[in-house]
Amino acid sequence: MIKLRIDDYPQGEPSRRYPKWGRELLAHIDALDIPYYLAVVPEVCSQRDFEFARSLKNAHLALHGFDHALPVWRPRSEFGKFTYNEILYKIEQTHIRFDGWCPNVFIPPFNMFDQELLDALNHWSFDIITGGPETFDHMDITKMDFGKLKLITSEGEFYTSNGDLSVILGRLGHCPDDKMVVVHLTGDYTF
Ligand SMILES: [Zn+2]
Repeated sequence: MIKLRIDDYPQGEPSRRYPKWGRELLAHIDALDIPYYLAVVPEVCSQRDFEFARSLKNAHLALHGFDHALPVWRPRSEFGKFTYNEILYKIEQTHIRFDGWCPNVFIPPFNMFDQELLDALNHWSFDIITGGPETFDHMDITKMDFGKLKLITSEGEFYTSNGDLSVILGRLGHCPDDKMVVVHLTGDYTF
């Protein structure tokens, strides 16, 4: 099971205006030889960014929402503004834009989702949706139909402004078997 999740590729969380990551940083993490989910935000990912992500040997590319826009739906989600059909269309556009890429893992921004999204992910045969503390704090998932989707959660997220690999490894070492470690890369990196 993949236990490391790196969010907001390629430029950090757009709504928070983090600097764009260096490719050196991802190459550095990739060299750890630990498999990880790389959460791609399609509307801010260029073809070149995508090709680079695909070249990383330990990255399993996951879809991280669509535009990662500021939430418009309470408590926090980018999906409340889309109908079921619009979500289907957005996923189809992602397939087309990135040469037939069919992700099987969906990482919802802010760990929030709704039933229309779950239904659309089942339609497109996704296997996994991820969550975090907000998933349980703000949503009643017992009332949602996950279909064939498996929910894998994290206990929280952490932010590293210097890409310290020992911190990432330390977190992984303490992560329970059924959880993930979520990393946000927030700074400018030099190696
Ligand atoms: Zn994010």
